[in-house]
Amino acid sequence: MSSFPQIGALAAQARGILNGLGVSASRLEGHRAATSPLTGEVLAHVADMGAEEVEGAIARAHAAFLEWRTVPAPRRGELVRLFGEELRAAKADLAALVTIEAGKIASEGAGEVQEMIDICDFATGLSRQLHGLTIATERPDHRMMETWHPIGVVGVISAFNFPVAVWSWNAALAFVCGDAVVWKPSEKTPLTALAVDAIFRRAAARFGSVPEGLSTLVLGAREAGEALVDDAGVPVVSATGSTAMGRVVAPRVAARFGRAILELGGNNAAIVCPSADLDLTVRAVAFAAMGTAGQRCTTLRRLIVHADIYDALLPRLKKAYGSVRVGDPRAAETLVGPLIDGEAFAAMQVALEAARAAGGVVTGGERVAADALPDAFYVRPALVEMPAQTDTVAAETFAPILYVLRYSDFAEAVHLNNEVPQGLASSVFTTNLREAELFLSAAGSDCGIANVNIGPSGAEIGGAFGGEKETGGGREAGSDCWKAYMRRATNTINYGTRLPLAQGVTFDVG
Ligand code: NAD
Repeated sequence: MSSFPQIGALAAQARGILNGLGVSASRLEGHRAATSPLTGEVLAHVADMGAEEVEGAIARAHAAFLEWRTVPAPRRGELVRLFGEELRAAKADLAALVTIEAGKIASEGAGEVQEMIDICDFATGLSRQLHGLTIATERPDHRMMETWHPIGVVGVISAFNFPVAVWSWNAALAFVCGDAVVWKPSEKTPLTALAVDAIFRRAAARFGSVPEGLSTLVLGAREAGEALVDDAGVPVVSATGSTAMGRVVAPRVAARFGRAILELGGNNAAIVCPSADLDLTVRAVAFAAMGTAGQRCTTLRRLIVHADIYDALLPRLKKAYGSVRVGDPRAAETLVGPLIDGEAFAAMQVALEAARAAGGVVTGGERVAADALPDAFYVRPALVEMPAQTDTVAAETFAPILYVLRYSDFAEAVHLNNEVPQGLASSVFTTNLREAELFLSAAGSDCGIANVNIGPSGAEIGGAFGGEKETGGGREAGSDCWKAYMRRATNTINYGTRLPLAQGVTFDVG
């Protein structure tokens, strides 16, 4: 039996967590209502910031940067290490707040905070490894090297579905790189942002000499984000959200020669080959497609199944879909919590209608508990058997819809995988070495994440997160992403007495 939350108890719980973490009551006053997708009830009110206030925050962040850039990098790493400790201490509270405000099931709320802790560990080590190269020079008696310097104020714009981790993927790196950060979280999740800000302040107080303005939170909607995007005092803008948002942000940042790091939407596929281990495949597909109610950028949205195993796989998947628990995300047995809001529900229904009109056969997708919870949107995940990869299939609908397509030739399956504009995550399920390696090769998946025998959802911070295709190369978190938060200088030192000039050029120097 699924359970659903009662209306009325969440606001007090959220306030209790915020108070306990040290968020001052004055920050919980304003006109914007912060609501919970669990019941639709109002949790608190917050104040949006106007463009002028954002400008002020950027100026203070710049002043903080001028101080912070000269602090030795390993010492900067110590601040991030302390932040990781504070996050460990606050993990249960912050995770509970993520569940209340973003609707993630409890284990995913906790998993998101764990990602914050992991990136702090990663960044602490990184603070001793901001290496530059020594480069062979063609000039005699010279040495040439590259040096990485802090770049300035980093603007972070984040999405509702990773309300706390996205900021930390950026901020932990930016802080060790010597930058200041101004954060504009999603207007749908201001409370978790306030909580993170308070936790960071605890670490800063322990560190002792953090310049005021090193980490600033600006609450607001699109306008506050635009103020960050357009400000020449923000050399790097890292924006995570829909491709629609990225399309607006990218040219505006480029117009002032800023650097954009874009982590955008995904329309992720998995290919299931005849040799696939079907037990493993069913479990992986069910989790990747239905987990977080389909509201992950890496959610599995398209399943490309070989004709020979289609009839063996589909009934098993339908069984998994029929048995999955939809309901209160705090309950241990729940896999699918609520959609974020009514808009998300409406978009899901539009997509399902379009799929039906194109010949799709829909299983599931209906709203549940609407009478008891008229302002919350719980749905059964939908499995949609499609005759072809239509425009609806090729678009990202941020809801639990899995489109299933048939293929007969592996090259055709790879083509279907690559045929959509988004290039975020992808998988192949096979025990055939040739298929697995081809999928990972230059002629295989064109996504930023390509996996074998594991679903596309979820990513470890160490491997760098995100897409490469539609965003033109995003990536936050691990690998060598830190270079995007710094500027590179090439230094040439002449330790000889000669100055190599163009042949034949002379000066009379007296
Ligand atoms: P969204 O695009 O509606 O909003 C994201 C953020 O951008 C919000 O803070 C919003 O206020 C801000 N914003 C919107 N328009 C803006 C503009 N013109 N200028 C500046 N800021 C602007 O996305 P959402 O609904 O919050 O999140 C879901 C989307 O995010 C999905 O498409 C999902 O795939 C994507 N996402 C991607 C990743 C990734 O790492 N690739 C991670 C999480 C979410």
